[in-house]
Amino acid sequence: MTELTRRGFASAIAGSVCSAGAIYGQSAEPWAGDSVVDCHHHMRSTPEASIAHLDGCRISNALFLTRDVGADRIRAIRAQYPGRFLGWFAATDITRPGAEEILTSAVKSGASGFGELKFHVEAAGPELRRMYALAAELSVPILIHFQEVPHTPAEGVFATGFRNFEAMLKAYPKTRFIGHADAFWANISADYANEAAYPAGKIKRGGVTDKLLGDYPNLYGDLSANSGNNALSRDPEFTPGFLDRHQDKLIFGSDCACSDGKGGGVSQANNPTAARVAGKCVARETLSLLKRTTSPAVFRKLAWDNAHQTYALKA
Ligand SMILES: [Zn+2]
Ligand SMILES: [Zn+2]
Repeated sequence: MTELTRRGFASAIAGSVCSAGAIYGQSAEPWAGDSVVDCHHHMRSTPEASIAHLDGCRISNALFLTRDVGADRIRAIRAQYPGRFLGWFAATDITRPGAEEILTSAVKSGASGFGELKFHVEAAGPELRRMYALAAELSVPILIHFQEVPHTPAEGVFATGFRNFEAMLKAYPKTRFIGHADAFWANISADYANEAAYPAGKIKRGGVTDKLLGDYPNLYGDLSANSGNNALSRDPEFTPGFLDRHQDKLIFGSDCACSDGKGGGVSQANNPTAARVAGKCVARETLSLLKRTTSPAVFRKLAWDNAHQTYALKA
C-alpha cells in the first residue's frame, strides 16, 4: 500500500477509536492507528470475511496464508481492497508428488513464502527436508506448525521432533524457518515433556525455543494462535525479557478464526484444549498483551518491521 493509503487508513481508525477513548479514558484498542500486519491470516471463504476480521479488531493489514489457491485469486482480492493484503504464503500437501513444482510456481507468481505447512510428518523427515531445501533455493521463508499433542483423539500430530530441531537449523543454514504452534511455544520452558498442548504456570528458564531463537539467525517465531498467546501469558515475569531478547525475531500473527474481530463465532477451530480463548479474539488478546508489555519501538518491530524484513513484504 502506498504510504498515503496506509496513513489514511491509520488515521481513519485512530479517529474512530478516539471517541471510545474519551469515554473510558483509554482506548480499548491501543494499537488502532498503528501499522499492524497479521501474518497468520488464513484466507477466508470471501474477502469480505477477511476484511470484517481485520476491521473488527482494528488491524490495518494482513498476509494471507493460502492452500492451493492460485495467484489470480490473490491478485483480484488485492485489487478489490488496495493496500490491505500485503502478500501471501502458499501451501500444498507436501506428502504428495508434485508439491515442489506447485510451491515453486506459487513463488514465481508472487508468493512470499511457504506455509503454513501442517502435515503428519517428522520435522526432520524427507518431506519437510525437501521443503527446507527448496525454500532456501527460492529464498523464501517457511512457516511450520509443530504439534506433538493431539487436541482431539483423531487429530494426530504435526512436524514432530521440535526438541531436536537444532539439527535442521544447522543442516539448512540458508533457510529462514518460522516456528509456530503448540510444540514451538510449549518448549519455551525447559521442563516441557509433551505433557499438554498448552502448558500453564511458571516457565523454567533455558527452554529449547528460547535457546534456538538466540543461537540461530535462521529461526524466527510466529506469535499467533492460542499457543503463542498462552506462552506469553503464562508467566508475566518471563515475558518482557523474552520479547526484548528476541525483538528482531518475533512476528505478530493471529491465526484467529473469529468472525468479527471481537470474539464472535469460533476463534480456534473448535479446539477443546484452547478453551482459554473461547469467545475471545486472539488478535485482540495478543495485541493487548504486546502493547502493555513492550515499548512502542519494540511493538512496531513485532507488529510490522520484522514481518517486512523477514518476509520481504511490499508495502
Ligand atoms: Zn497452525
Ligand atoms: Zn478474532
